[in-house]
Amino acid sequence: MRYQRPKGTADILPGTSETWQFVEATARDLFARYRFGEIRTPMFENYEVFSRTSGDTSDIVTKEMYDFKDKGDRHLSLRPEGTAGVVRAFVENKLYGPETTKPYKVYYMGPMFRYERPQSGRQREFHQIGVEAFGSDAPELDVEVIALGMNLLTKLGLKHLRLALNTLGDKASRDAYRQALIDFLEPHFDELSEDSQVRLHKNPLRVLDSKDAHDQEIVADAPSILDYLTPEAQEHFTKVKASLDALGIAYDVDATMVRGLDYYNHTIFEIMADSPALGEGYTTVLAGGRYNGLVEELGGPEMPGVGFGMGVERLVILMQAEKIALPDDNALDVYIVGIGDETSLETLKLVQAIRQAGLTADRDYLGRKPKAQFKTANRLDATYTLTIGDQELADQTANLKNMATGEQISVPLADIYQDFQKVVTDGFTAK
Ligand code: ATP
Ligand code: MG
Repeated sequence: MRYQRPKGTADILPGTSETWQFVEATARDLFARYRFGEIRTPMFENYEVFSRTSGDTSDIVTKEMYDFKDKGDRHLSLRPEGTAGVVRAFVENKLYGPETTKPYKVYYMGPMFRYERPQSGRQREFHQIGVEAFGSDAPELDVEVIALGMNLLTKLGLKHLRLALNTLGDKASRDAYRQALIDFLEPHFDELSEDSQVRLHKNPLRVLDSKDAHDQEIVADAPSILDYLTPEAQEHFTKVKASLDALGIAYDVDATMVRGLDYYNHTIFEIMADSPALGEGYTTVLAGGRYNGLVEELGGPEMPGVGFGMGVERLVILMQAEKIALPDDNALDVYIVGIGDETSLETLKLVQAIRQAGLTADRDYLGRKPKAQFKTANRLDATYTLTIGDQELADQTANLKNMATGEQISVPLADIYQDFQKVVTDGFTAK
C-alpha cells in the first residue's frame, strides 16, 4: 500500500518553509509593534463554539466543518477559523475584566480545517494568521486593524493590493435591510440556486455571498445596505472612512460585500491581490471586520471586538508568484572536510565547537572522498572549509580556506576550540 497525505492537505518542505518562517517572523515583529500579544487556543473546540458563532446557515457550519464525537461522546469540531476559539478563551479566562487593559489585543497563527473542494489557495487544512481587539467601539480601532493588515502585506512585499470596504450596520440597520432584501429576492425565487432558496428567508444576506454565477447576476441589482443604515451606523462608517483617508489608505466601498461568517456587524473588509497565480481577477488574502455581540453570544458581557484573518497559503502563493526575495539567514559558514577514517572523531568535535561559537557548520557522514566533500561544500555554498587529514591530526592543526578568495591558513586546533570567531577575523581580515 502507498501512503498519501489526505486530500486537501500539504507538506511544507524546506525550500518553502523558509517563506513560511519569514511570514511568521515578520508578522510577530509587526504585531509586537502594534502591541498585540500572542494567544494559542486548542485546534478543536466543542462543536457549539462554532455553530453558535459562524451561523447555522453559513457554508462553514452546513458543509465545511470537520466535526466528530470523541470516545467520551463529546461533539467536537476541528476549528474552521480562529475568532470563535479566541472569543471562547477571552470569556472563559475572564479577560473582559478590569485586570486587563482595553482594548485587549491578541494575535494567533495556526492550522484551520474546512471540508472544501481543494484547488489553488483552497485546502482542507490551511493556515491563518489573525488578530482580535476587544473592548472598544471606536471606529479608529477598526482602522488600526485594517492598517495593520495592509502594513503586514506591504511589509511582506506584496503589491497590487485592493482594500474592499463595507458596513453591515447595527442590528436595526440589518433588520431593515433584511426585509428589503427579501422583498427584492422573492420575485426571483425560482431562479435562485438551491442553497440560496433555503437561505432567502432564514438569512437573506447569505444570498449576497453566493458563489453561484446566476445568483451573483441577480444580486448585482439588489438594494444596498448603505441605504438602510441607522444614523449611528452611518456615523461609525463615516468615521472609518475618514480615518482611512487620514492615514492615506485607499479603499473601494463594495456595498454588496458580505462575509462568510454571521457574526460580523458594522465594518467589514477584505484585502485582495490581483495575481494570475490564484486564478482570474482579485483573490482575497486577508479578511475581517467588527463583531460586536460575539462575546455575549459565548456567555461573556457586552464587549465589542474587531479583527482579521489572513490565509497563509494564498499569501505564500502570491509571494512566490511575485518572486519576493527572502533574507538568507541559514547560510553555511563552515564545511568540515575530514580525510581518512582517523579524523572522524575530531571533525565531530570541530563541527560541534563551531556551532557552539555561534556559526553554522556541517560535515560529511557518508564516507565521501575529499574531492566529493569539497564538491558538497561548494554546492552548499559554504563560506569556509576546514580540512583535516592524518598529518594535520598529528600536528593538531587544520586548514581553513576562504572559499571566495581561495586564501588558506593553517590553524592550531586549540585556537579553534578556544575562539573560532577570532580565528576567522584574525586569519583573514588582519592582513
Ligand atoms: P472564500 O470566500 O475564499 O471561501 P472565506 O470568506 O471563507 O473565503 P474567511 O473565512 O474570511 O474566508 O477566511 C479568511 C482568509 O482565510 C481567506 O481570505 C483566505 O485567504 C483564507 N482561507 C479561507 N478558507 C481557506 C481554505 N480552504 N484554504 C486556504 N485558505 C483559506
Ligand atoms: Mg470559504
